[in-house]
Amino acid sequence: MPNQYIKTVKFGGSSLADAAQFKKVADIVLSDKTRRYVVPSAPGRRFDGDEKVTDMLYACHALASKGKKIDSVFDKICDRYNSIISELGLDLSLADEFKTIYDNISGGAGDSYAASRGEYLNGIILASYLGFDFVDAAQCIFFTENKQLDSEKTNKILGEELAKHEYAVIPGFYGSMPDGSVITFSRGGSDITGSVVARAVQAELYENWTDVSGFLMADPRIVKNPETIDVITYHELRELAYMGATVLHEDAIFPVRLSGIPINIRNTNRPDDAGTMIVAKAPKESSTTKVITGIAGRKGFSVISLEKDMMNSEIGFGRRLLNVLENHSVPFEHLPSGIDTMSVIVSTHELEGCRSNIMHEICVECNPDRIDIEDGLALIAVVGRGMVQSPGTAARLFTAVAAAGINIRMIDQGSSEFNIILSVEEHDFEAALKAIYAEFVKQ
Ligand code: ASP
Repeated sequence: MPNQYIKTVKFGGSSLADAAQFKKVADIVLSDKTRRYVVPSAPGRRFDGDEKVTDMLYACHALASKGKKIDSVFDKICDRYNSIISELGLDLSLADEFKTIYDNISGGAGDSYAASRGEYLNGIILASYLGFDFVDAAQCIFFTENKQLDSEKTNKILGEELAKHEYAVIPGFYGSMPDGSVITFSRGGSDITGSVVARAVQAELYENWTDVSGFLMADPRIVKNPETIDVITYHELRELAYMGATVLHEDAIFPVRLSGIPINIRNTNRPDDAGTMIVAKAPKESSTTKVITGIAGRKGFSVISLEKDMMNSEIGFGRRLLNVLENHSVPFEHLPSGIDTMSVIVSTHELEGCRSNIMHEICVECNPDRIDIEDGLALIAVVGRGMVQSPGTAARLFTAVAAAGINIRMIDQGSSEFNIILSVEEHDFEAALKAIYAEFVKQ
């Protein structure tokens, strides 16, 4: 059962990029005493063109592995932390830590170790500034031999450890391997640490503080000032994330989802904004529920189309077709089919180096009457739990796209009733997205 007196809060790199940002973070954390477990990222960019500490640490590792001195980059990292410490007026010195890290990286420590030190050092500073305990993630977040999070061991040991600390800072992004060496999640992985911590302490809420006020209903580079999504389900988020809408690391969903803990995306620079709530089950739909939750899309798809008389009664046609793709390790995205036609949509880049072999093998295996391949397609996902109860959604969608003079190349409603996928030619992509947004959200 989630504990209503515990929140886990994670702050991204831009939220902790300098002393001024640290002050905002402290105001947020200390204004609510249920914000008990804090997960920091490493200092991110302070301005366009600035360097992230994590990138500089990877650069140190790269220099060391070529036998070069790391001083020029390492000194810049130390300066970043030292200026945060002095501007916050902390009585803290990281000199010993810097020396150990310098020696380890120069002495051949791995890239994971190097990269993880960004969060580690930031965690020490933040714990000192907040007056919270520091709990090293290497002691309580565990990975298996094959470098996957060992969820159950971590959940138990981390839960037991954090029960000993009323307030604690746990650095994001890393844990340890069975041999004790440090390992990181993939880039952006502090989001996962936050989720793992929220589960271990059975938090009522996982707040993920970043530099945007939640998920937007559409890409702001295409739609001007899109609205923020107030509530989104894990399922909807998965569909939108697959199509390229990113704010949160994809793997961050699983730990909290297991325990039904909602995630609230919040903006450190605009703490009064409610942000986006990510929930397992949306509150009961009301008349104000929007028909669609979000629109996302990507370019760069190809479609292989096949036609064959009596295809529908030919046993094994689809299997043989997909086998060819599997043999070339090419995943397929969609498989719309008619009575005597079948199309496979794949990412164009997956076909690099194997396109003509695939086409040839499909001809041999499936013996189609006609086969062709066309590049330059874009996919658009229109996602919304409100679609189920709104008859006519598909008609409105297609009418809006047609009215913009755009030809829809494929439609796939899949088996979920809250996602319609359209394919259009790449040059129509932006116009189609705008037309859909205007129809369902606002002109
Ligand atoms: N600092 C790491 C990165 O830049 C992890 C994170 O910020 O979540 O990828």
